[in-house]
Amino acid sequence: MSKTVCVTGASGYIASWLVKYLLQRGYTVKASVRDPNDPKKTGHLLALEGAKDRLQLFKANLLEEGSFDAAVAGCEGVFHTASPFTHAVDDPQAELIDPAVKGTLNVLGSCAKAPSVKRVVLTSSVAAVAYNGKPRTPDVVVDESWFSDPEFCKESKMWYVLSKTLAEDAAWKFVREKGIDMVTINPAMVIGPLLQPTLNTSAAAILNLINGAQTYPNASFGWVNVKDVANAHILAYETPSANGRYCLVESVVHHSGVVDILRKLYPSLQLPDKCADDKPFTPTYQVSKDKTKSLGISYTSLEDGIKETVESLKEKKFFVA
Ligand code: NAP
Repeated sequence: MSKTVCVTGASGYIASWLVKYLLQRGYTVKASVRDPNDPKKTGHLLALEGAKDRLQLFKANLLEEGSFDAAVAGCEGVFHTASPFTHAVDDPQAELIDPAVKGTLNVLGSCAKAPSVKRVVLTSSVAAVAYNGKPRTPDVVVDESWFSDPEFCKESKMWYVLSKTLAEDAAWKFVREKGIDMVTINPAMVIGPLLQPTLNTSAAAILNLINGAQTYPNASFGWVNVKDVANAHILAYETPSANGRYCLVESVVHHSGVVDILRKLYPSLQLPDKCADDKPFTPTYQVSKDKTKSLGISYTSLEDGIKETVESLKEKKFFVA
């Protein structure tokens, strides 16, 4: 009989790839979605190979206590990916922080009630790692020992970053108290092909550059491919010695560098040639790959990731060349 695992927020960008790969590997997947009757959220999952026999959908909301009990019951592994990723919020507490923090504790509460659960893999973020006010320059290497500082995030009004920082911190406290085995995956900006029909925030970062924008943001981000992120989740679950946190970053590149790659790949595209402000470019920094390499994670190049994203955005008609 195949092993059963749960994926929360299964209709999302990263989770859809995770569900695809888990089904490919023979797992039975109990997938939570907010609205199982919305074909935009479930159609692409139900069409995956193996879904007919081994995918079960469960309705669950991060803010409803006990909502995940049924999805988690009987599972050996739980992948908790559900968490809002958006920057456009009116009420950061209600729209980002509560679902991230209370939602994570809610899912972990369901895990604590399920004796079948052997390991939880939490989708955290570089947002929970790199934002603490320490200087980040090309010679600085960020690694898994870094933690973002909630006060710094609040002062800088980085509400999504704050939500991920508080959620990971609350998760570690909870699992230590309850003796739950948890590993976190901390990706940077995730790009690559979309399986879902809707546009997610990190793919939108590439769309915003090719959609006629006059300027590019003055920001340097780490970038990583969605397929590598999904694989990393599975490796973190299947490798008994996996532990702690895993930062996932192929490379840290300023938006001007992303535009350079786009120009090389698509010379005829109209691309922004000015930065959004006149300040010096936000410096890049390094993120250690040592720990992820020890887990056997390999990285798709940023150039391939950008190409896959553009092709996928075209195919899904978010962008007409
Ligand atoms: P996404 O496509 O927007 O997926 C987010 C998922 O969370 C969706 O399935 C969404 O459900 C679910 N969700 C949001 N609020 C919910 C609620 N109240 N109750 C139940 N489900 C809720 O984003 P993604 O990029 O795949 O992100 C997935 C995870 O990866 C998140 O934890 C995010 O913080 C993390 N992450 C993402 C990136 C990145 O660059 N993409 C980088 C690092 C970490 P609906 O579909 O119903 O809205």
